[in-house]
Amino acid sequence: MKTDKPWILERSLGELQDELRTAGFRDYTAWQVFQWLYQKNNQDPASWSNINKQDREKLSGLYDCGCRPVLSVQSDDQGTRKYLIGLADGPEGPRRGGLKIEAVLIREKDHYTFCLSTQVGCALACGFCATGTMGFRRNLRAGEILSQILTLKKELGDPGAKVNLVFMGMGEPLLNYDNLSLALQRIISPDGMGIPPRHISVSTVGILENLKKLERNFPQVKIAFSLNAPNNDLRGRLMPISRRETLGSLLTYFRGKKRRQRLTCEYVLLKGVNDAPAQARELVRLLHGIPAKINLIPYNENPSLPFQRPEEATVEKFRAELIRHGLTVITRWSKGQSIASACGQLAIQLD
Ligand code: SAH
Repeated sequence: MKTDKPWILERSLGELQDELRTAGFRDYTAWQVFQWLYQKNNQDPASWSNINKQDREKLSGLYDCGCRPVLSVQSDDQGTRKYLIGLADGPEGPRRGGLKIEAVLIREKDHYTFCLSTQVGCALACGFCATGTMGFRRNLRAGEILSQILTLKKELGDPGAKVNLVFMGMGEPLLNYDNLSLALQRIISPDGMGIPPRHISVSTVGILENLKKLERNFPQVKIAFSLNAPNNDLRGRLMPISRRETLGSLLTYFRGKKRRQRLTCEYVLLKGVNDAPAQARELVRLLHGIPAKINLIPYNENPSLPFQRPEEATVEKFRAELIRHGLTVITRWSKGQSIASACGQLAIQLD
């Protein structure tokens, strides 16, 4: 696939209307194209039957209309599937040795969750996270973010299935704000995918300026804040970014921000590091004044990293301590561990 043509997934409806008008198309063609791309989830112009053949060929000549290809799929027995997607870096497009990303499809009781990547690799180097070991390659383009969703939706085979999107895959979404924002516009827009913003969560370590922008521009999109420690000192040792984006300033922002729902705080439980009852009490004090809900994530181990998952009894004690102090807690035993697609396990051999 040549990539020198503009990617149609990166055009808003307004932009496409303007461009197609200039290129001599009828006014409603752009709207028909959007219907095919997003509502019918069909990116093959040759099959866009309500557009005449000449116009379809012209569209193919003007734009790259495709999604990025799936290179491989791994499934576990609970219905979690991990997709390896090739990116079009290099003149030959997707190829062995080219850049790749992972997206995960999780089957839940009454809906599906898509876990999406926003960067190739990650610059944050959180000590416990497998993606962090890859280093940072580049930001994903908006089209590459959208491509993951369209591809996973095709896999469902049920256009009416309820889908939640979580930006919890590879990378830090708020360090790729502009592309995330473009993708979100297309995801939410009724002319695009029409996914309600309340079905979308962005997980972040907290990059304050971009967090403010995201909450201003997409007030209904949910934030999941990766807290992971009961104080800035320990957090800074686990997550180097915490030395620059301090808990102090993030929590001040969260305290001052009125929100409809409680703030979700993710807390990865690491054996002997942040899982003691005294640390649970410290966490309660830290979050004082912030209506919060804690997602406890027992660590998903990775052979290349030194951390371990605590015993179930330790997880339970930690949880009980938080609940005793009035916090709402959900323990997330993440799915997909057998195929290395649980939280923090996405990492790809790039070369
Ligand atoms: N950069 C973003 C999104 C990617 S990580 C963020 O940090 O929020 C998504 C979540 O997985 C984060 O809460 C992170 O703390 C957690 N996580 C990372 N590695 C993990 C692991 N090995 N086991 C369990 N959770 C992990």
